[in-house]
Amino acid sequence: MEIACNADRASEQSILEQKKIGALAFDLGGTKIAAAMFDGHELISEVVKVLTPSGPEAIIEAFLKLISQFQERYIVTGIGIGTPGVIDTVKGCPTSSTNNLPGWSGTPIKRLIEEKTMISVYVENDAKAAAYGEAKSQNLMDSPCTIVITLGTGIGGGILLNGEVYHGFEYAAGHVGHIPISLEKKRLCTCGLFDCWEAYASGIGLTVTAREVLSGLKEEQTQLVKEINHMSAQKLVAAAEQGDPAAKNILALWHEHVCAGLAILLPIFDPEAFILSGGLSDYVDLPLLTELLMEKALPGTAQNLTISKSKLGINAGLIGAAHLILDQLAVAKS
Ligand SMILES: [Zn+2]
Repeated sequence: MEIACNADRASEQSILEQKKIGALAFDLGGTKIAAAMFDGHELISEVVKVLTPSGPEAIIEAFLKLISQFQERYIVTGIGIGTPGVIDTVKGCPTSSTNNLPGWSGTPIKRLIEEKTMISVYVENDAKAAAYGEAKSQNLMDSPCTIVITLGTGIGGGILLNGEVYHGFEYAAGHVGHIPISLEKKRLCTCGLFDCWEAYASGIGLTVTAREVLSGLKEEQTQLVKEINHMSAQKLVAAAEQGDPAAKNILALWHEHVCAGLAILLPIFDPEAFILSGGLSDYVDLPLLTELLMEKALPGTAQNLTISKSKLGINAGLIGAAHLILDQLAVAKS
């Protein structure tokens, strides 16, 4: 019996020694939850994706199930979570959330998971988590200001001041997609306000611009008229590359729209870098955008500003969430 016990202990010890140690990161989206283990920047597991269940209790249950599954193979020292919504990062709780996650606002995510797992949890807005990861990966943590803009279906962002995510008075700073860029009350944003940056420069905004331009044209002028209700950035770029003048016009307008929000952020923050992430950033012509922005910059400013694209791609949110919890643990230790 004693021998068996010793053998069990030895095999348990050997399993523990084999287990890699790291932070478990989550990226919660309206349709999927992604989860993976990180040792700093380094991904040490596969990225697991599950469908986002309906309702806050079910989402917390899904997190707990994934945590147990990862703990079978890894030693989880901390848990970082990126989620949509305005997040009170001290309480680890959304103070408001998107329509994609009904009931999520007010869910004490940090408390519920820490109580069950006894592992430290840090919760951050998903775009801000991604911004933290990007700034970290581009060695910008000592920079006075770095601004990361996520161009996707909507527009998210994160403002980092001296290597820390700037949250503002009520954690709502950095929700740059809702900067008003026009006074015309022309386009209604998903937030209920008119003329937000997102209503123009996001994926949805780009399709609205395309419809506006194409509705005044005939099929003889551009083949894109046939695609008016099925427009995408990819189709526009392909048509522009083939010389389609309407596509070129739509993309030029879109670059003006992307520039409009950056031009507002520029004199307020005087950032060292704008980093563009998200699926739509692939279609940004950086020299053109830089030229447009420099035309709007206060003379003599932004001489050394860099505008670049994400180096982390789709895992930016996960990497950022992992760094956030690891850095919190390091601060707590010191
Ligand atoms: Zn808005």
